[in-house]
Amino acid sequence: MRFLAIGECMAEFAPTSAPNEYSLGFAGDTFNTAWYLARMWPDIAVSYFTAVGDDAISGQMCETFSASGIDHRHVQRLPGRTVGLYMITLDKGERSFSYWRGQSAARHLADDPAALNAAIEAADLIYFSGITLAILDAPARENLLNALQAARAGGHTVAFDPNLRPRLWSDPAQMTDAIMRGAAVSDIALPSFEDEAQWFQDANPEATAERYAAAGASTIVVKNGGDPVFFRQGQDCGSYPVPGLSGVVDTTAAGDSFNAAILAGIKGDIPLRDSVEQACQLAGQVVQGKGALVPVAPFPTGR
Ligand code: ADP
Repeated sequence: MRFLAIGECMAEFAPTSAPNEYSLGFAGDTFNTAWYLARMWPDIAVSYFTAVGDDAISGQMCETFSASGIDHRHVQRLPGRTVGLYMITLDKGERSFSYWRGQSAARHLADDPAALNAAIEAADLIYFSGITLAILDAPARENLLNALQAARAGGHTVAFDPNLRPRLWSDPAQMTDAIMRGAAVSDIALPSFEDEAQWFQDANPEATAERYAAAGASTIVVKNGGDPVFFRQGQDCGSYPVPGLSGVVDTTAAGDSFNAAILAGIKGDIPLRDSVEQACQLAGQVVQGKGALVPVAPFPTGR
């Protein structure tokens, strides 16, 4: 399987144990999913599509893609631009995030339909998120949605995590409208119930799944933190209880790693319930480690 994630990867400054010292890393929702896929399922060809600048930090980001086993041949290097940045601050153990991403090159990732189509053409399964949609201006968002719709019509599989981030949108109605347009070009939807309930007033995970099914998705997995995962494939549906954990350290990238396991199973024709089980196992390890990219050991059997 050839997998392509489309979105924004950012430079991350995370606090170290020394006061006022930070370590540099790279993370971002769609990139995190690509990273877990490449790490846990080495037989899947993982590729990332974004835009970066032509400065040193952009080069370092691309080196990180390579070192993580992620193909970046389609990443656009835009002259004079750079990547977005966020910084994590700890206050009495509570993490807060500050972002500098307004000018990031990734906002232009879908400006050039030819570059976008070249990347999409080379993939079987294409993954994007509500954050990917949020960072684009209106014409670029149209380019992306049109390219995904055409890809789906041409037999590619499209997967979407709505990842609702109201702060990235000018108003909630614009966000919910764009999210449902993303859903309408997707075969697979991977929403998180808490956010969906807040912004779409879904009464329960079944209602979330129903809404994405009505939009056209045939496979839907509704995450819900430590509560059961609800899944639906065609007319089959079920729920899977998340195994309890003794300690949750940091839930960053819980959903991103979870999605990697679901997507790894899609093209392997693994029963959805088995993929959900493996997704809970992976996300369960990720929430017990610090940061977005937790160096979890690949599953013994692989897949
Ligand atoms: P997101 O990060 O997209 O909001 P969730 O918070 O719903 O996603 O978490 C995704 C998955 O991570 C869950 O389905 C579960 O497998 C795992 N997870 C998250 N929080 C917990 C928790 N408190 N205990 C055990 N597993 C958890």
